[in-house]
Amino acid sequence: YLVYINGEFVPRSKAVVSVFDHGFLYGDGIFEGIRSYSGNVFCLKEHVKRLYESAKSILLTIPMTPEEMEQAIVETLQRNDLADAYIRVVVSRGPGDLGLDPRSCTRPNVIIIAEALALFPQELYEKGLRIVTVPTRRNIPDALNPKIKSLNYLNNVLIRMEATQSGVMEALTLNQEGYVCEGSGDNVFIVKNGKILTPPTYLGALEGITRNVVIELCEHLGISCKEEPFTRHDVYVADEIFLTGTAAEMIPVVEVDSRIIGDGKPGPVTKRLIEEFRKLTKVRGTKVPGLSPL
Ligand code: PLP
Repeated sequence: YLVYINGEFVPRSKAVVSVFDHGFLYGDGIFEGIRSYSGNVFCLKEHVKRLYESAKSILLTIPMTPEEMEQAIVETLQRNDLADAYIRVVVSRGPGDLGLDPRSCTRPNVIIIAEALALFPQELYEKGLRIVTVPTRRNIPDALNPKIKSLNYLNNVLIRMEATQSGVMEALTLNQEGYVCEGSGDNVFIVKNGKILTPPTYLGALEGITRNVVIELCEHLGISCKEEPFTRHDVYVADEIFLTGTAAEMIPVVEVDSRIIGDGKPGPVTKRLIEEFRKLTKVRGTKVPGLSPL
């Protein structure tokens, strides 16, 4: 695969940045995860918008326009002939002197990696995931706001490690008050009596683009979907649960902390939404011409 670094395409083995990059030294930077389905970059504009908003929030000037960024992402897919890919865009503060002050960092590094990726085994999309809740809390909005998709993902990494230690592949994190926030890299929805709830982002969650698409989809299908706080108990007694994220797409959850959810199989509301969501992934976004189908 060829990796985009500051306007150039270099082979994976040569895709390197300085050890003095403040992205490496301090986690000073931001990123996006984007997906292309059959040559359609799903919600490209929304992802680029969030990237620029994350950058603005941390006073990082991305040295290109959003349109140029979109074009660079499209070109990365074309150069690699990847119709179905996970795309990672990273903008780091760039190399500078040691010390937290970013003023010596004169040039951000803009990196785009595109690869074929499957986050969860295909069978789990049919059978559903087992997950747990973990001790690590989501960082709170008045500290490092979870709405900023920053390179400080250590607590998400810890959440994922705690999931692995419990023998499962994903986990839910709570905030200090005990309200459910999200997964390590995905948002959470519960279904109870035909109505859907997802935590408001102010509790401590990324405003997921997949999440927003699902909320919109519910509106379109006439299914009640509200942003409302809920606790672990509400999760345990939900009829259905599913997670949403660029990498995870939409995936049903059938067990949380050893509690079987519903009848232990993906439920009808989840299955219907997944079906509708899959249709959208092929049409909503930006078409990239000239890519070979899978
Ligand atoms: N929550 C976190 C912490 C994430 O990193 C992600 C991944 O991007 C999500 C949720 C899901 O967001 P999206 O649907 O925009 O990929």
